[in-house]
Amino acid sequence: MIEFRSVFYAFDDVPVLGELSLTIDDGEFVLLAGANGSGKTTLLRHCNGLLTPDTGQVLVDGTPVGDDLIAARSSVGMVFQHPRDQFVSATVGADVAFGPENLGLERTEIDRRVEAALEAVNMAGRDDERIDALSGGEQSRVAIAGALAMEPTHLVLDEPFTGLDEPARRSVLARLEALSADGTGVLLATHDLRDVLGLADRVIAMRDGQVAVDGPPEDAREELEGLEVRVPDR
Ligand code: ADP
Repeated sequence: MIEFRSVFYAFDDVPVLGELSLTIDDGEFVLLAGANGSGKTTLLRHCNGLLTPDTGQVLVDGTPVGDDLIAARSSVGMVFQHPRDQFVSATVGADVAFGPENLGLERTEIDRRVEAALEAVNMAGRDDERIDALSGGEQSRVAIAGALAMEPTHLVLDEPFTGLDEPARRSVLARLEALSADGTGVLLATHDLRDVLGLADRVIAMRDGQVAVDGPPEDAREELEGLEVRVPDR
């Protein structure tokens, strides 16, 4: 469970999150919507301690993130907007192994996790391939595998479809759908809900650092109007 309790955060004295409260349960597929600049990335970066609230608290599974960063980063796997920025190794397998290696796990456990994570994103057996030779969609899937290798309860993705062509979008979407069906919580930030609205249990939309909409997708559609969010045609 991820819990925001009255979280206030400002960049250079400009408030970005304004006393925001929110609870995300395990297993939920949540869309975090909102126009560019509405604070989605800032909110996500609080989920695993990349940013810390000026006031208020963020808790993962009941523990304040800052009290146990390793636990928070194990429970909440983060996939950034530009996967290229998050790779640390030249090859697929080495990159996916990086997180579990940092947890100090046994080699056999690391290998098991890498294999399972690559399997989950349809990249099984491609450990030795160079990341820079992969397509954009494959790179996105490797980034997701890197997060999955931590065996997170929640997978958090920031605009994961940016720069992907249609087949790649479909492939990443299919992987997210399968992961969600298997019980992994998904928190996906996007300003474009067209492909994803049907997958979600809940839509949270932000405006000016506040939650403007929070509810099931079928109820959210009309409320999303005026928030500069793209919704699917009826
Ligand atoms: P979104 O993800 O919804 O596009 P962000 O969380 O990236 O929104 O940004 C919210 C606001 O915070 C914007 O006004 C943005 O300009 C500002 N902001 C984001 N990152 C920084 C930063 N590193 N320094 C100063 N302002 C920032």
